[in-house]
Amino acid sequence: MQIPQPIKEIIELLEKEGYEAYVVGGCVRDSIMRLPAHDYDIATSALPLETKRVFSFCRIIETGIKHGTVTVLYKGSCVEITTFRVDGDYTDGRHPQSVDFSAKLIDDLSRRDFTVNGIAYSHLRGFYDPFYGARDITLKIIRCIGDPEKRFSEDALRILRALRFAAVLGFEIEEKTKAAIFSHKSDIKRVSKERIFAELKRLVCGEYVKNVILEFSEVFAEIIPELSAEIGYEQGSKYHNSTLLEHTARAVDAAPREVHLRLAMLFHDIGKPLCRTVDENGECHYYGHAAISAKISDGILRELKCDNALRERVCEIVRLHDMPTEPDEKFIRKQLSKRGYELFRDILYAKMADDSAKIPEAEERIPLLLKTLKLAEKINDEQPCLSVRSLAVNGNDLKAFIPPSAAMGGVLARLLDEVVEGTLENEKTALLSRAREIYNENDL
Ligand code: ATP
Ligand code: MG
Repeated sequence: MQIPQPIKEIIELLEKEGYEAYVVGGCVRDSIMRLPAHDYDIATSALPLETKRVFSFCRIIETGIKHGTVTVLYKGSCVEITTFRVDGDYTDGRHPQSVDFSAKLIDDLSRRDFTVNGIAYSHLRGFYDPFYGARDITLKIIRCIGDPEKRFSEDALRILRALRFAAVLGFEIEEKTKAAIFSHKSDIKRVSKERIFAELKRLVCGEYVKNVILEFSEVFAEIIPELSAEIGYEQGSKYHNSTLLEHTARAVDAAPREVHLRLAMLFHDIGKPLCRTVDENGECHYYGHAAISAKISDGILRELKCDNALRERVCEIVRLHDMPTEPDEKFIRKQLSKRGYELFRDILYAKMADDSAKIPEAEERIPLLLKTLKLAEKINDEQPCLSVRSLAVNGNDLKAFIPPSAAMGGVLARLLDEVVEGTLENEKTALLSRAREIYNENDL
């Protein structure tokens, strides 16, 4: 395994003082999978004060010291060095009562969640893999270390971590681990909303999210109760060939792996069961479902303590996901002016994901959506005038013939409409003379 030079040096400095030190957890897993590792966590037999002493020549951040973590600023990067630990009893389903330090690596690895996360490595000592994590990486299996029932009852966040690793890495969850996930799913409510949402965001961006949503729909329903109505829901519509949850999972899968788009697809039809009507031919319709779904999404995201910017962005996409669009320059210009390029682009992405999760005929609409997207990109690149601020005149220019009043805003808005429409040039003389006309004509 390759580890960066500064990390090797930290391990060597600790070993030189008589302590054991290893890289552990995610970076070992990722490196065995030949994925880029993002951060290297070090575990050591040195107690926090001993680690501090070894690195007394470095800047040290002490925030995690109670839990055994000393953060060392070494050669420009922050590295977390944590003393081997054994967790005490868990009483609240999330946090151990106490954390005891240990001199043994095996204790530290035993408290970790999954075999694939329980491997230690040092370039001086090699791999230590008592739970056969490397084998499970090769087999692509997420398996609890120890008794799954006990591990999930200790900390229910591990349930979502298991689903997240399955969705991101494409691993299967081992049978006993899976059974324990289902039997402990209701414990998730004891986990803080912030932590749940942090995992959910990573989970939905996984390349293999579709099967996780379908296989663990009951776990999703614990986090998002509104989703349970989608499970097994027959849509009774000629555009669809799967249940509402299957359609949703396919749509999430088809969306670009950006969190706002993935969440929008997860919620886009969540209000459908509330607005079903059946026509005389027995065909079902869901008029107004986008607006209702947006409202429900807003409630869910507030409950999950989502930040406002992301919540608003997701809800707008949900609200507008079934608006009609066309690859027409004038139409697109108006949309860009009204909604901004980013939102319009997101709506098109959502529509494509939605259509690719319906009957094959619906997929035929995708080329038109792509054409619309290309045109929107082109128009946006030309930096057209799409807001009052980018008009070649402003209120000051119009003051000569329009007294300060509400009329001023009205005239500017009309000028913008006409420029966006393409019937008026964004040029000062033309705008001034048209402004005069509008003002006089309308007797504003
Ligand atoms: P990534 O950084 O990609 O999210 P990771 O496995 O490094 O993956 P972290 O949250 O950084 O995840 O945790 C580091 C290590 O700590 C994990 O690999 C695992 O060994 C252990 N760990 C983290 N959370 C838990 C938990 N809730 N229960 C048991 N062990 C955990
Ligand atoms: Mg990590």
